[in-house]
Amino acid sequence: MITHHPKFELIHSFVKGDLPASISAGIAMHAELCPQCQHQIAQLTDQMAEASFEESSTSDVTALCSDSQDATTEGYFASLNADDMIASITQSDDLFEAKPQPQQTVTLSDQSYVLPKALNSMEVGKSASIGRLSRARIHLDENEIRTSLLQMQPGGSVPEHTHKGFELTLLLDGSFSDEKGKYVKGDFIVLDRSHQHHPVSEEGCLCYTVVNDALHFTQGINKLLNPIGSLIY
Ligand SMILES: [Zn+2]
Repeated sequence: MITHHPKFELIHSFVKGDLPASISAGIAMHAELCPQCQHQIAQLTDQMAEASFEESSTSDVTALCSDSQDATTEGYFASLNADDMIASITQSDDLFEAKPQPQQTVTLSDQSYVLPKALNSMEVGKSASIGRLSRARIHLDENEIRTSLLQMQPGGSVPEHTHKGFELTLLLDGSFSDEKGKYVKGDFIVLDRSHQHHPVSEEGCLCYTVVNDALHFTQGINKLLNPIGSLIY
């Protein structure tokens, strides 16, 4: 059972569209697996939509429509006046819904995983491995924020470490444990410099990770662990 969810503030920023694509995708993927957060997102989206329509001006609606890639939809809206537009947007649930796309798969150390829908449009790079850890980069061009798919094979672990920045982990498959307990598919875990942990996966796992700074290993000889650090960051 999922026990780790994004904080309310994060879900709020997600609905407002204020988050970097990497974090936003993490929340969307969590919501695919978590009915509770899915419900919260739907409620907040409704509330914000209502609030923005109350303040809405014609130019807002024009901006909204010009974002559309669909020429037919644009043509349709061009033939309406602003009041009709608002009425039709609020009435219709599926007008801007994207067409269903086939789900992307990734193979790490001979194991294939079907990726969540939120990653459909993202480019997944080649994989690299050290020991029982494998990583495939997700190319998002977010400067110091780096996003990856990280696999721990059964018995794999990441040496004890802490962070200068933050580390977001969304468990997509399998499970892992650290000092705080066991994490399962769908768990959304945010750690910062106040946390120090040593994740171990008995059965193996696949995680979506977003980090904005290198890991700082807290035990052993740091230099020896550098290749692992650069695999994960
Ligand atoms: Zn949740």
